[in-house]
Amino acid sequence: MTGSSAFRVLVAGGGVAGLEAVLALRDLAGDRVEMTLVSPDPDFVYRPMAVAEPFARGHAARHRLCDIAREVGVELVRGALTEVDGPGRIAVTTADGPLSLSYDALLVAVGARSEPAYPQALTWTPQRDPELFGGLLRDLDEGYVKRVAFIVPPGVAWALPAYELALMTAWQAWGMGHADVEVTVYTPEDAPLGLFGAGAAAALRHDLEEAGVHVETGVYVADAPGPPNRLVLHPGERPLEAQRIVALPRAAGPNLAGLPADPRGFVLTDRHGKVADLEGIWAAGDAIAFPIKQGGLAAQQADAAAEAIAAAAGVDIEPRPFRPVLRGMMLTGRGSQWMRYDAAGGAGEGTASRRALWWPPTKIAGRYLSPYLAALDGTQAVDEAARPDGEPVELDLERDLPSAADALRQASLRGEASRARFAQRRAAARGETRTQPPAP
Ligand SMILES: Cc1cc2nc3c(=O)[nH]c(=O)nc-3n(C[C@H](O)[C@H](O)[C@H](O)COP(=O)(O)OP(=O)(O)OC[C@H]3O[C@@H](n4cnc5c(N)ncnc54)[C@H](O)[C@@H]3O)c2cc1C
Repeated sequence: MTGSSAFRVLVAGGGVAGLEAVLALRDLAGDRVEMTLVSPDPDFVYRPMAVAEPFARGHAARHRLCDIAREVGVELVRGALTEVDGPGRIAVTTADGPLSLSYDALLVAVGARSEPAYPQALTWTPQRDPELFGGLLRDLDEGYVKRVAFIVPPGVAWALPAYELALMTAWQAWGMGHADVEVTVYTPEDAPLGLFGAGAAAALRHDLEEAGVHVETGVYVADAPGPPNRLVLHPGERPLEAQRIVALPRAAGPNLAGLPADPRGFVLTDRHGKVADLEGIWAAGDAIAFPIKQGGLAAQQADAAAEAIAAAAGVDIEPRPFRPVLRGMMLTGRGSQWMRYDAAGGAGEGTASRRALWWPPTKIAGRYLSPYLAALDGTQAVDEAARPDGEPVELDLERDLPSAADALRQASLRGEASRARFAQRRAAARGETRTQPPAP
């Protein structure tokens, strides 16, 4: 880092939390801060869209960190943070052999590691996705596979991809002409995505029923005591019968030397992201000991930490603590379901809608990151819309951007009509009768 007198901020991790933080800090603190970003990966990868790739419904976009760093005015160092000397304010990294970097403020945003929960199941990660699902979808197409199970293991911090994969697999099988394929999700949750509130859970149940996906809630999948490679469902110790089993991975903490962590290696922080018992160190995102690991929350944690760091740098700001608001966009295989829930309280049943509930309409809702990426992708003319009052991710579309809301409504109506036609054909193929005729 240079010898200038600016407040030196070191951000470890070029993912959602790391990028949200550098964008926020540049906005809040301008040239008061001199920022360095350390990342072992050359790219920022938009992982949530990886679920769409095997079904040709989208892709996980990549952005070169060196381009973002140049644009935001951040020095980029290629390497990984391995150790922190808190009292000495030194971060040890793997760049150029070991390279020690001094800082005034350090933000640890290194994410979590993925660990398989069951060796006998296929563990789904964005990296393995094409390989894994290529084979599964081929087997479905050729009629070899009729029963597919998706498992949400106990302790999984973000269950939504399991439902997306199940829904898209069910619709894909149907599209291939196999109406007899059984897709089941096994989950310890009380209700599918119950953390979004009763409203979202009901909407999701409707989507699952329409696609013919079964869900067993309140069940724990475990290794069977007897012969190897078998899984059982608790309570009841029933065998899990399926020809293909796909499980979400468990998240494991980064376990960084020098930082206080919980027993699973996640960094301990307060509500401003300040790391316990250490001066000048903050942490945000999947790396911290917060039970839900989600991109939108990672961005909110990064915003809270950025405000606290800006204040430490001398900016006149009253740092606000992290106050979790869950925003989830689920790919249903026939469109999308948008869910919002104020996890900090007062949310009632939460909100679910076929239309976008925030702007820009992206899977990860970050106050700075979403508009930045939308502008980079050129997907929406975000910069052309007059910026209304308030925070971008908190927009009321109807009130603030009525033309965008209207366009989304029209698209959604077209989607609803085609969903209803699909559902009708599907029910007819199964010999089911409907009490209500589907919408035209
Ligand atoms: C399949 C899938 C679907 C998802 N769907 C959604 C969704 O729909 N909506 C949503 O909001 N969230 C979703 N998430 C969750 C979301 O992707 C994560 O919560 C989010 O990426 C966490 O951000 P982060 O910055 O903490 O970690 P990451 O985004 O994982 O970034 C961590 C960064 O740190 C770097 N790094 C790692 N180790 C080190 C080190 N030692 N030193 C320096 N850098 C390091 C990595 O290279 C990476 O760039 C999904 C996740 C997955 C896997």
